[in-house]
This record gives sequence, C-alpha cells and structure tokens, in this order.
Amino acid sequence: MGTTSLISPASVGVLNRMRVLTALHTAGPQSRADLARTFGVSRATVGTILQPLLDNGVLVEGAAPATSESPAAGNGSPATAAGSPAVGAEPPAAVAEQLEPGGRTPGPGSGGPPRASNPARSGGKPPRPVWFSAVARSIGAVQILPGRIDVAAVSLTGQIRSRATAAFAARAGDPSAFAAALRSCCAEGLAGTAVIGVGVASAGLVDPDGARLVELNAAPALAGYPVGAALGDQLGAPVYLEHHARVQALGDRWFGAGRGLDTFASVSTGDSVGVGVVQHGTVLSAPGAGSGAHLTVAAGGARCDCGRRGCWKTVASLGWLRRRAAALGVPGARGTTLGRLTARAERGDRSAAGLIDEYAANLALGLGNVQQLLAPGTFILHGDAAAGGATFADRLADHLAVNSPHRPDAVPTVMRADPNRNTALLGCAGLVLSEGMQLVR
Ligand SMILES: [Zn+2]
Repeated sequence: MGTTSLISPASVGVLNRMRVLTALHTAGPQSRADLARTFGVSRATVGTILQPLLDNGVLVEGAAPATSESPAAGNGSPATAAGSPAVGAEPPAAVAEQLEPGGRTPGPGSGGPPRASNPARSGGKPPRPVWFSAVARSIGAVQILPGRIDVAAVSLTGQIRSRATAAFAARAGDPSAFAAALRSCCAEGLAGTAVIGVGVASAGLVDPDGARLVELNAAPALAGYPVGAALGDQLGAPVYLEHHARVQALGDRWFGAGRGLDTFASVSTGDSVGVGVVQHGTVLSAPGAGSGAHLTVAAGGARCDCGRRGCWKTVASLGWLRRRAAALGVPGARGTTLGRLTARAERGDRSAAGLIDEYAANLALGLGNVQQLLAPGTFILHGDAAAGGATFADRLADHLAVNSPHRPDAVPTVMRADPNRNTALLGCAGLVLSEGMQLVR
C-alpha cells in the first residue's frame, strides 16, 4: 500500500483516511494543497477525507505544530511531558470510534470540536498545516518480556508522555505475580489516563485474535494468559496483541527508520533473534507464526531451548556470542556485547574481529532465508547488533548479499535503528493505529 495514490473518491473511507494519516506520519505537517498534490486529487476530495478526522479531534488544522510533537523528535525520552496539560485532557468521544477496526466515519456534526474554517473555500488565505492534535487521547503501549513489563502512554505522533516499568519472576509457578505486576504497571504508566486503545507486544508465541499469550519459553506459567481480557477490564479500551518482532516492525513503519518505506524487515537481536516483515505497508502476520528465532539454520546443530536442534537463535544471539567469546579467550567474555567486541577489534584484537564476522555470518543465515522468501530488501537492525555500528552493518550486508538471490539491481541493504528510541514500545501505539485502520492482515 503506497502513499502516492488514493482509491476512487467514491470509496472514500477507512483506506483513504489511513493513507492520509500515513502521509502525515511520513512527511510531517501538510496543508490541504500539499496533500492534494501528494495524492493527485482535488482539494475538495482531500477535504472530504480530512473532515471526519478534524471533527473527531484526531487532526487539527492551522496551528503550528510544537517541535516536541514532530514524529522525528524525542521519542526515546521517557515521561518528558508527564505533567503537561495534554495528559489526561478529555478528547471527543468519537476518537475511540474512529480508531476501532472498521472505524466508522462520523457524519458532520457528530460531536467534537468546532470545525476549522476551510481555506479552500474561503480563498486567499495562506495554506495552513494539518497535523495531529496535541490534546487527542494517548495510546496505551505495553511490552511483555521475560521478567519485565514496560508500559507507556504514547501520543498519536509517537511522543512518550508517561512511562513505567515493573519486574516479575519469570519462572514463577503460576501467573498471579505477573498479573499483579501488569495491573500496577499499567496503573502507574498510564496514570489514570483514558486511552484510545492498548497495543501489547509480547515475546514468545501469541494469539492475536484471542489476545492471549500462547507460549513464552522463559516464563512458562504465562501460557494461555488472557492479556486482552485482563487489560480490557482494567483500562476500558480495545486491546490488540502481537508478537514483539512484528510490533517493532510497526514501530519502524509509523515512527522509525521504516517511515516512508513500502517494504522492509525489522530485525531484533540480543537475548533472542527475530524478524518482522512489512510488505506494501502491512506487517505480515500468520496465525501460529513465530518470528524466525527457531528457523533451522544448521542440520544437527546445538540444542535450543525449544527442544529442537540448529535453530537460528542458537548461533545468532547474545548467549552464543558470549559462549564463543569465552571459547576464544576474549577477556570479559561472559559480559561482552557486540559494542564491546567492536571496540576491542578497533584496538587491534584479531580474535574479536573474527568473532564479529562470524556473528554477522550467522545473523545473515536467517536474514538470507527471509530475503529468499519475501525479499524485503531493506533490513533495519535493532538491539545488540545495532550497537555494533557501521562496521558490523557492513559485514552483515556482505554476508547477506552472498545468501540472497543474486540480482545486481536488488542488493539487500542494512540500516541501524536509533538506539535511543524504544521502537517496540512505540510500535504498540503503531499496532493500535494499524489495527484501527485495518493495516494488519
Ligand atoms: Zn528453537
């Protein structure tokens, strides 16, 4: 789904509104005339698409956007606006309706703030930018990792307004401690703010349709936990659940390095490894599908925590890197990271340099398979591998080119995500935007 054309004016609805919102996210504030030029339609058509979004308070027109609400600004800083008047401001009730799946189009006069005047009709006035409302309700973002929960209230432009973190015992025999931690972390992180919807990213296997956790190897008691029902009861908003890697891809798509890219892959590295693929603007998600950590990349390889042998995770995670560093006698191997190994390599440590290349080759095994099957072309690196800097990204790109279909006109590229931005947490907000606009299939 590109952003350069609209479906016919007769079919104006969810799809056109989504494309306009995507264009604003990608290019920043734009006037009606800008949008008309972008999509090659009349300003009247743009007005028809914008009006419900202006009526229900998702967008505003005419006010110069604050720098801090720019989609590219300050996403990594927690709680920067926790005390601002925007937090907790009551938005028009129609905002929630607008962003639900199959969102309806409220008719004129359906509530919300008074309409902004239309420069296309009034004539002669300077163009005024259309942008996301600073007082629209937040989106709830919840990230579930083995032993840790992160919660944030995120604005429609990806600004983190408040945030909380809680720990829980991953190996507990039942989910009660997790449930209590989730509840209190949401109460603290969302600070009583009514939210449009809640996006949840979880490691392991998830059931997005039933909003349940299915399997988390590192926290077995969470199998079957009804996260959607629990949070829906507590927060009174629709809850959407997806796998961590796919949510991270949504974070890239809406708020990160993937903005404006039609097709790309978002790569998680560190304790595990995984890939989320955006194809034509949509995150690919099949029921029961994992994120690639357990792709078999070595016949008869090492035993994985899933019970199988030779999984990608067994040769392309931080655990492997540390074990291999220890075997090679690298000082500080048990606590090393790719960033530290890179620093050693730059000081002339040949074994560190060799290990970095080996890690790049192993990571490229799974990514090459993804490129063979889905050809995302662009790979955005997150986590430990992103901390390896340009040197590691270049080594990875070299190995990836070898493992990919040989087409000189389509050599895969590797980008690094901004390490100061919590893309998965922002992706939870992107999940609500995407589900509300029917972008996930
Ligand atoms: Zn496995």
